[in-house]
Amino acid sequence: MLMVLRSLARSGVPGMREWTVANVLAIAALLLFAGRGRIADVLSIDIANLLFLCAPALMHAGFQRHLDRPAPYGALAVLVAASTAALGVFHYVVDAMAVRVALSSLFHGIVCVAMAWGLRPWAQPGRARYPIRFAFGAALTLAAAHAVRALMYASHHDAQVTLFDASPVNLVCFALGTLALPGLTLGAVMMANAGLIGQARYAAEHDHLTGAWSRRAFFGRAERAHADAVRAGRTLSVLIFDVDHFKSINDTHGHAVGDRVLADLVARTAAVLRGDGCARLGGEEFAVLLPDSDADTAVCLADELRRTLERAAVAGPGGVAVRYTVSVGVGSLADGESLANLLQRADAALYAAKRGGRNRIADARLVDGERCKYATSGS
Ligand code: GH3
Ligand code: MG
Ligand code: MG
Repeated sequence: MLMVLRSLARSGVPGMREWTVANVLAIAALLLFAGRGRIADVLSIDIANLLFLCAPALMHAGFQRHLDRPAPYGALAVLVAASTAALGVFHYVVDAMAVRVALSSLFHGIVCVAMAWGLRPWAQPGRARYPIRFAFGAALTLAAAHAVRALMYASHHDAQVTLFDASPVNLVCFALGTLALPGLTLGAVMMANAGLIGQARYAAEHDHLTGAWSRRAFFGRAERAHADAVRAGRTLSVLIFDVDHFKSINDTHGHAVGDRVLADLVARTAAVLRGDGCARLGGEEFAVLLPDSDADTAVCLADELRRTLERAAVAGPGGVAVRYTVSVGVGSLADGESLANLLQRADAALYAAKRGGRNRIADARLVDGERCKYATSGS
């Protein structure tokens, strides 16, 4: 698991450092435990126990950080210190191994319950479900196993217990102990991978500057919307719009203000049209899909959008209000029409709106240009 974590070392995934250190500490602890009788007791018992307590605590801290929450280092440090002190008492004051095992399991159980609570899948909207459920299940299983083990050792505290007997209970405990950290780490790696895949998908599907859908995402969504509309015999409209004289906004107020205009436009478009969200086709050209909207509805929405943006302003240098307008081409799917044809007509309508003086909308049905003749429908 350490080697798997190593492969993700440069991923920048939050929690990765804690998970890695937890595994290193657990390996060190297990090596020290294994040296029992051959190396000093302080190493094979006290230090080993301390390291073994820190491992799940750090796993928990890692999960919390991964889920964008503060890691409860203070509480974990207090719990580790108190448990280590108690373990010390039952080593140096009364040498009772069974009590030490019970205490250690109690600590692990508490940390695993906290871990499971932090991971509870129903409180993690927007995250891949399977990895969270896996990690949650692992934490819960461990919490239950440690609770049983703690109770078992606590109720036999006077018996002569040795951890290395080949008893069924010891075998189960060893199996769980061996699988505990790898199981949790596997969950962590799954969550890290799901997060990275989600980030990569988001980056591919969204425009970095404005948060709008990317051109690539737009065409995928448009194809699906077109196929749905054709199959169900429903309407589909599209708006293609472009900021008027955007170059002069850049030239007059600077590129940063131009960027602000683009982000403002996307936010306001989302507020006006809700539904599907807008896509940045390139530069200062955008598109919105309007499933289930006929041409008249789309024209109304387009004009509402145009009027909203006409009233909008972003802060320019020295607090000056920078206004902007858009020209909009409106296209609605005709019977048997291909998606490419629909987009071409909407685009031609946009250019008609530009030619007509800008800050206006043009309905593709009324545009009569060479490119807009509807002869290619269904091709
Ligand atoms: P029109 O009304 O005909 O659309 O004129 P326009 O000036 O808006 O169109 P033109 O195509 O001449 O200029 C578009 C400008 O958009 C040029 C380019 O530098 C600018 N631009 C493209 N992408 C960005 C961006 O991400 N940020 C900023 N600030 N400017 C951009
Ligand atoms: Mg423009
Ligand atoms: Mg343009």
